[in-house]
Amino acid sequence: MSVLFVACSLVLSLICGTIVVALGGAAQTRARAQTAADAAALAAVFESGPYGSADPEQRAREYAQHNGARLTDCDCVEGATEMEVEVALDGFSARARAVIELDKLAPAPVSPQGSATTAGLQPALKRAVDRLIAASNGRVYLVSGARSTDRQTELWIEALQKHGDPEAADNWVARPGTSNHETGLAVDLGGDLGLAVSLVDELGLPLWRPMSWEPWHFELTGMDG
Ligand SMILES: [Zn+2]
Repeated sequence: MSVLFVACSLVLSLICGTIVVALGGAAQTRARAQTAADAAALAAVFESGPYGSADPEQRAREYAQHNGARLTDCDCVEGATEMEVEVALDGFSARARAVIELDKLAPAPVSPQGSATTAGLQPALKRAVDRLIAASNGRVYLVSGARSTDRQTELWIEALQKHGDPEAADNWVARPGTSNHETGLAVDLGGDLGLAVSLVDELGLPLWRPMSWEPWHFELTGMDG
């Protein structure tokens, strides 16, 4: 079972085009500069959140270099969902902006589909989640609720086997003993997460998403971590 699958949709929008500062109609060079900018912007935004492991600007610099260009500007705030870069190549410069659409990210399926229940959740969280799901008319569902520490251990070991490195595993799965799922204080929801968020507002539910990079992970408000 693939525990660690993450459907990640990137949208690349190009802005400003290119600026010609050299003589000659080097359309090919211009295109190469743009490719380098696109690659650098995508690489930078991929480093946002737990799937990345490097500094976005450093990663943008590497990808620009791999494409024969030099990074000249990077509007790359760590953890941001949007990054903008500028590169220079043989007298041409090009800009690109890449955006992660968080709502298209999907939670890791950690239990067989349809088997997740709100059993074992902290009662206030269970009430809120039950109300949210009922109000969604089937458009929001529970992917993962309370997990035993044994289950969390299994998940973490699977991540370790897949990534071969504890730090990389930590990017995907919380270490056993540290996940709020183990204490019944967190749920992962699937389906229409935009609807889930608007229902939280509409119904005044005490739910929030503490981690911007895991938009499916909900906890009770007023709790840390
Ligand atoms: Zn979660």
